Amino acid sequence: MHQKIIKPLALGITLAGSCVTAAEQVTDAIAPEATSAVQATSEVTAAQYIVAAAHPLASEAGYRVLQQGGSAIDAMVAVQTVLGLVEPQSSGLGGGAFLVYYDAESGKLTTFDGRETAPLAATPELFLKDGQPLKFYDAVVGGRSVGTPGTVKLLGDTHAKFGKLAWSDLLAPAAELARKGFTVSERLASSIAKDRDRLYRYPVTRAYFFNADGSPLQTSQTLTNEAYAATLDTLATKGADAFYFGSIAEDIVATVTGAEGNPGVLALQDFSVYRIKERAPVCGGFMSYEVCGMGPPSSGALTVGQILGIADQFRMQQRSADDPISWQIIGDASRLAFADRGRYMADTDYVPMPSGLLDEGYLKSRAALIKPGEALSEVAPGEPSWENAVSLADDESIELPSTSHFVIRDAKGNIVSMTTTIENGFGSRLMSNGFLLNNELTDFSFRAHKDGLPIANRVEPGKRPRSSMSPTIVMKDGVPYMAVGSPGGSRIIGYVSSALIRHLAWGESLDSAFNSPHAVNRFGTYDVELGAQSDGLATSLEGMGFKVNRRDLNSGLHGFVIKSDGTMVGAADKRREGVVLGD
Ligand code: GLU
Repeated sequence: MHQKIIKPLALGITLAGSCVTAAEQVTDAIAPEATSAVQATSEVTAAQYIVAAAHPLASEAGYRVLQQGGSAIDAMVAVQTVLGLVEPQSSGLGGGAFLVYYDAESGKLTTFDGRETAPLAATPELFLKDGQPLKFYDAVVGGRSVGTPGTVKLLGDTHAKFGKLAWSDLLAPAAELARKGFTVSERLASSIAKDRDRLYRYPVTRAYFFNADGSPLQTSQTLTNEAYAATLDTLATKGADAFYFGSIAEDIVATVTGAEGNPGVLALQDFSVYRIKERAPVCGGFMSYEVCGMGPPSSGALTVGQILGIADQFRMQQRSADDPISWQIIGDASRLAFADRGRYMADTDYVPMPSGLLDEGYLKSRAALIKPGEALSEVAPGEPSWENAVSLADDESIELPSTSHFVIRDAKGNIVSMTTTIENGFGSRLMSNGFLLNNELTDFSFRAHKDGLPIANRVEPGKRPRSSMSPTIVMKDGVPYMAVGSPGGSRIIGYVSSALIRHLAWGESLDSAFNSPHAVNRFGTYDVELGAQSDGLATSLEGMGFKVNRRDLNSGLHGFVIKSDGTMVGAADKRREGVVLGD
């Protein structure tokens, strides 16, 4: 295995075992677009354990836990609490998360749903004014969009089951970093500057993200967060439940209900009834693999499963990434899958859903609609088998990118694949206890009905908004082969699907699968990532009848594969700041 000393990071720790230094990778993150053509691979090989997360300090915190003999779940606690500090715009204690977990001892693959819930006092009119949907940011900014956070309980519950090291020790690195201060990254500084007006609205948030003279924090400034450290201290001594009972929950409720101009209805009772739900993974077949992930309330695994299942009918392994027809097939498969997603997928604890969305016969019938070389002129939801069918209207929710994905494998072979979010960049823009509060409720459809039919993803009390998050573990012959996921709003589904096709069908390295230009189709328009490398593809797709939109596509894929000799190769998306560390 390649051994190399990594330069000390902010905590002054020297780490061994990575092919690429964290400092080099931070440089990658500073100008990703400008330097991507000449960057070295993001790949790192490891024999015992590995972690890949969206910020070097978060990967480092997880790496240290693994080095001390901690489990993947222990490392997850350290990674998430550091991410919530250093990448606050994306995820944190005020948000929700989905975990796909492989337990090596029992050989069991399972999922944990830490999605936010709608307040018990929420009504279907939450995002309507005079019967009309609110404008997106009018709904997002303030208390109205804040759901009961699930991330802390997810960390606490899974640590109680699978943790080896002391809970309090796992929170200590983030608390220490919050007190000593961390360096504001280029990405965080530019996100603050771009969001200035919204972030400036509430005094606590303003005081944290802006200097005394009103200027936004700059790259390389040191930021401390005493309130965050104090929250972690409370959780360390009293346990994760201290988040849900007592002063932390009380302050969140006061912040949400007192948000000037746009208060919400979150109440203490929402915290006391909040539960993590363990759910069976949803798995779809692709070639000889089982691609497993998060079922409802996420649409992730079902939609990724449909795309791969439809694409599989066209034998992707006999096609290539260079052939535009491959992308036409993937794009149309994706449109068909998104049509079903919009019609049928939501929190199945509240609404019924067809059982046949991944049935082979159904996917074959959907694939039969696709004509290689010619984009579908029209796409509509299909009619998968459904014992108790109800008529539903198509969903209207809007999703915009933030979020973070990380993967971990410990020395015993336990695997964490977790996507974690506060929804929009900086969530609701409200801060409490040193962290930002989510705006996850805007992942619901703003309307409850359309043309007289109910929308599956409508707001209901206690319900979890539909997600696109797709934390994934790929199984082969009953054992894990790969873990992967990405942020990116509803484009997550396309990022994950195409990374899987590139690697599994076309044999691309993970680095290439993650960092090649994206082409993503959700509802018809083909989003093709800007850059000379994809000019030809964009023109060909237009020639086949697609409307093409050239744009930046801000994925954040992190993942690893386990090779037949047991070594792991991890990679990080160069569009973000992520690093892979392992031994
Ligand atoms: N809130 C989104 C979801 O749950 C994720 C947002 C993002 O990735 O930017 O699907």
